[in-house]
Amino acid sequence: MVKYFLMVNQRKTLNIKKLDNNIDYVLSVTHRLAPKSGDVKKLRSLPISKQLDFNGGWTWIPLPGWAADIVPKDKKGLFVPTQSGTSDWKGYNWWLGAAMLINSFAERQYENENGSIHSYSFRLDSKMIPAFEYAWTNRIILFLRRWWSHENHIPEEKAFSPVPKAVIHLTHDVDAVSKTLAIRIKQAAFSLYNKRPRAAIKFLLSNGNYWQFNKIISLEERYGYRSLWNFYGARGGFFRSLKEHIFDPAYDIYSTELKDQICLLSKNGNKIGLHPRFDTWQDANKMILEKENIEKVLGQKIYTVRQHWLRFSFDKTWKTQKKAGLAHDYTLGFNDRYGFRNSTALTFTDSASGIRVTPLVLMDSHLFDYSNKNQIERFKVIDSILDELEITGGEGSVIWHQRVFHSDYGWGDDYEYLLDGMKKRQITTPEMA
Ligand SMILES: [Zn+2]
Repeated sequence: MVKYFLMVNQRKTLNIKKLDNNIDYVLSVTHRLAPKSGDVKKLRSLPISKQLDFNGGWTWIPLPGWAADIVPKDKKGLFVPTQSGTSDWKGYNWWLGAAMLINSFAERQYENENGSIHSYSFRLDSKMIPAFEYAWTNRIILFLRRWWSHENHIPEEKAFSPVPKAVIHLTHDVDAVSKTLAIRIKQAAFSLYNKRPRAAIKFLLSNGNYWQFNKIISLEERYGYRSLWNFYGARGGFFRSLKEHIFDPAYDIYSTELKDQICLLSKNGNKIGLHPRFDTWQDANKMILEKENIEKVLGQKIYTVRQHWLRFSFDKTWKTQKKAGLAHDYTLGFNDRYGFRNSTALTFTDSASGIRVTPLVLMDSHLFDYSNKNQIERFKVIDSILDELEITGGEGSVIWHQRVFHSDYGWGDDYEYLLDGMKKRQITTPEMA
């Protein structure tokens, strides 16, 4: 494990065997939570353990009474990578722990040994699951702030900049603008999986208008939010492989209707990004073609991306995106689980590729397809994610697909609940009205 991690990081600025590199890296990623030079100086002055050994497991580190509120309710501590012989907050190297979390060290190790999980958490060791439930990196920094304040007998609110209001990047991946055969089959399969055969048949056979742009735009307008819209830019139509028919979107970005819609979205303050198809996760040439098509339609360059179906490899995808001229990725989340894939609710830079990464914390299908929850249960999940972002001053992205605002799905009410919860918590989006 140690050997592997060093190998992965040899070419990067992050080298976990150099303590100072970890400190600099973690402080740069967690800048939101310690923005001023005075904040940083205080955190750097803490007597944090310098030990650099870890053994590949996970552990709960209980916090002292004066930091008890930084531990999530009913949990016994902060959940972090195990360090040799340490289960005590004084002996734990928090800089190393945070650097390992931000960089998904455990998943990278799994990928190196077994290949990419393509964003399905069920393929990972279930012992890791608590890592995905909270923004542990953010909580580590909140703990360090508290530690300094306790040590120096100065209240945290006087010693440090306030914990900032959370930020959510609202995003809409546009997989379909009409009810295609592939969409009928995919959604009917999910209905069967969730033991709703009648819904499956109805979905297969009924017709529907999946052009839902205006509904979403006016909903967001009511709350003063704008969003990021990710489009597929390859060819649509009939003459494609079976695999493309099944897995990729099918619309043509050059159709007049879509062209007008994309330009209108952009004109009204929304951002346009790329949603490249299934096979692009390690193929820069295919990605470039898609990106250029969207740029031609939009009349300007685009820099943001989320991989379709969250097809993703730590080793390959960010480098591929960089090669394609992209700069900011929103893929880092799970298909089958909401929460915090790298235990971090912050935008960070991947050292190997230079790509900026905003983690994905919640997707519509987490609530509907991958779990059979009723509305009360779904709202509870939405609240739990918003609460975690609020408490930890976090930043993350959320996906609500364009088509799901149609009554075939009826997932729009939950999106409205999300926007309402954001407003109540004064959570902002990067693109505000
Ligand atoms: Zn997609």
